[in-house]
Amino acid sequence: MNDSAAGGGAVPAGDPVASGPGEGTRAVRAGLPEPVAYEPTLPGPVFAAHFHLPGEPTGPYTYGRHENPTWTRLEDAIGELEAPGRDDVTALVFPSGMAAITSVLFSQVRSGDAVVLPDDGYQALPQVRARLEAYGVEVRTAPTGGDAQLGVLEGAKLLWIETPSNPGLDVCDIRRLADAAHAGGALVAVDNTLATPLGQRPLELGADFVVASGTKQLTGHGDVLLGYVAGPRGGPMEAVGDWRKVMGTIPGPMEAWLAHRSISTLQMRVERQNATALSVAEALREHPDVTGLRYPGLPGDASHEIASRQMRGYGCVVSFTLPSRARAERFLGALRLVDEATSFGGLRSTAERRGRWGGDAVPEGFIRLSVGAEDSGDLVADLLRALEESAR
Ligand SMILES: *Cc1c(COP(=O)(O)O)cnc(C)c1O
Repeated sequence: MNDSAAGGGAVPAGDPVASGPGEGTRAVRAGLPEPVAYEPTLPGPVFAAHFHLPGEPTGPYTYGRHENPTWTRLEDAIGELEAPGRDDVTALVFPSGMAAITSVLFSQVRSGDAVVLPDDGYQALPQVRARLEAYGVEVRTAPTGGDAQLGVLEGAKLLWIETPSNPGLDVCDIRRLADAAHAGGALVAVDNTLATPLGQRPLELGADFVVASGTKQLTGHGDVLLGYVAGPRGGPMEAVGDWRKVMGTIPGPMEAWLAHRSISTLQMRVERQNATALSVAEALREHPDVTGLRYPGLPGDASHEIASRQMRGYGCVVSFTLPSRARAERFLGALRLVDEATSFGGLRSTAERRGRWGGDAVPEGFIRLSVGAEDSGDLVADLLRALEESAR
């Protein structure tokens, strides 16, 4: 295993990269070509609507909606991180996490098929559900915790897993659910946004697709929207690629390039942010006004046991509940090092009262906190001070 893994998760036995380079080394080099004299290490973004294409129209690069070398390098990087040591895995990048999610769902299912979604996943999933149903797809839902999706798998075409779930941070057993889904002939997709590929590798746990929003910790600077899908080449992944080409849900070269540049610092960001998230969770646990504290890396958390078996790092998000909406709003207003903002995974800590969006089934005082790269002591002190100030 490699000790520099993302923030102290237990590394599952049989790690295929046991003797390979460490995760920092892999992140720094992911998807980059061999150095070429007098050329930049990361070639600049290629802005091209079309490529010079004499004769038969075959690739690798034909038209800008089909392929782009800047995407290819980023896709190679993502493939190397999600499935180290596997040549059979390919990745596709999208302009947002939602574009990646909907491309998998709508390229795989037809009217009359059944799909299983979590009922506590990303807040846009209910809107995806409504559209699937409008096309005659049967949608079943179950909570993430306790592997409850097992109970509604019968006859399904596709199982969608989000673990840890956003924002509740429940965790399910990917291997167990994937085995059950496959036994019934269903495909399995895992939303890996919260863990990042350094924190969890769903393809090794049996998933057919790993899907994520690269908008969050993968890129980490809060300046780019991006999504990706990765899985074994051919078959279902080919249909996702065709879907992207036909629907035209493609990322801009500038965004793809920014994302690739940001991945070079992924390991150090994840390691530091995850370690600080654990310190923050430990500090909040002691505070009498904090209830419902969740962090999968916290021993004693309801998710900890299964998380420590399947995750290599526990993420940078901590969630908890304050006694009332007013208290939560005063707390957020009193923070100096934490911006009130949605999204998560950035270098600057952010937090928000999730109830303000109206989409998640959470208490009024529920706060989702994304731990950034500030010094741990400064951040913990700021949070504890804001808790005291907001109590008055
Ligand atoms: C943010 C998020 C998405 C959507 O990603 P976008 O890049 O905003 O489209 C999907 N799943 C999870 C778990 C997310 O946190």
